[in-house]
Amino acid sequence: MTTTTQDPQSSAPARGRILDGKAVAAEIRDEVRRDVAELVAGGGRAPGLTAVLVGGDPASKVYVGSKKKACEEVGMVGEVVYLPGDVSREELEATVDRLNADETVDGILVQLPLPDHLSERDVLERIDPGKDVDGFHPENVGRLWLGLPAFVPATPSGIIELLRRSGVELEGKRAVVVGRSAIVGKPMAALLLAENATVTVCHSRTRDLGAVCRQADVVVAAVGRVGTIGPDDVKEGAVVVDVGMNRLTERDQVEHYFPGDEKRMDVFERRGSTLVGDVDFTRVREKAAAITPVPGGVGPLTIALLLVNTLRAARVRQGLDEG
Ligand code: NDP
Repeated sequence: MTTTTQDPQSSAPARGRILDGKAVAAEIRDEVRRDVAELVAGGGRAPGLTAVLVGGDPASKVYVGSKKKACEEVGMVGEVVYLPGDVSREELEATVDRLNADETVDGILVQLPLPDHLSERDVLERIDPGKDVDGFHPENVGRLWLGLPAFVPATPSGIIELLRRSGVELEGKRAVVVGRSAIVGKPMAALLLAENATVTVCHSRTRDLGAVCRQADVVVAAVGRVGTIGPDDVKEGAVVVDVGMNRLTERDQVEHYFPGDEKRMDVFERRGSTLVGDVDFTRVREKAAAITPVPGGVGPLTIALLLVNTLRAARVRQGLDEG
């Protein structure tokens, strides 16, 4: 699932191999499709995932739409509950309660962010931990850190799956996670620790980020800022995972980060922007042993692992797996 040749999307000098998240995600989705078919053939019920979307944020609409479609492609039942942007806390809680009680719903996710008048924490804590396929409920967070079976947020578990299937050894390695959010950085650290890596977590108050990152065999960048990790911030032969999703909208920035990359420039010309991560991909790749691209790296794994979590929830709820 990895390539060692020149990146087809770039004419820049190749060095580190590309960790192909798109291909690994397709492989995982195929496995889920096969397992769902087996479950149904054995008399089980097709897993069901319901997303709750509050308000009409266009990006959130796209996200829940693609989650629903991904469910249907693997034979699961994908539903979306649309609530108005001014929905009351009580109405939203009643929706979550109804989904908690619905036997056909195995996974519930509340699309974030929520409008300011609603508390994300309160809503996430109301979800039945056995249906919390996003892994944001404190019970699942605690279980993850205790090393107990848990629903783990899809992005970091996707990264572990990508590294594993790409043959990247983690045991005994020094891993540096940049970012400490509940969605990415913290669960990433827990998972790397569980793989017996020696883990350091960095954040906005970290002093001399570069010096810390240069010690790492594996760097995971999850910040949300273009160019956070440059070539001087990684050691020769490091594995670099870029979680960041940022948009470049200035031509000179695209030329700076992707010199001579005609395909990238073409995307920029057509769309007026291009999606990039936190890592200076072109220059860091020249030092790295392996690196994830953006797009096509971590992004596709997130939905794939959400499907894995939903299948697991369904199997546990149908008494086929232990919780
Ligand atoms: P958050 O904004 O919640 O967290 C960002 C983290 O980066 C914080 O811990 C912050 O530190 C830290 N940070 C900010 N500036 C610096 C700095 N200069 N040096 C070091 N650390 C810094 O973001 P998320 O974790 O939700 O997401 C991170 C990125 O990953 C975003 O671009 C997001 O779009 C992307 N993402 C991609 C996904 C995918 O599927 N590919 C899924 C989820 C997220 P502090 O805690 O001190 O504020």
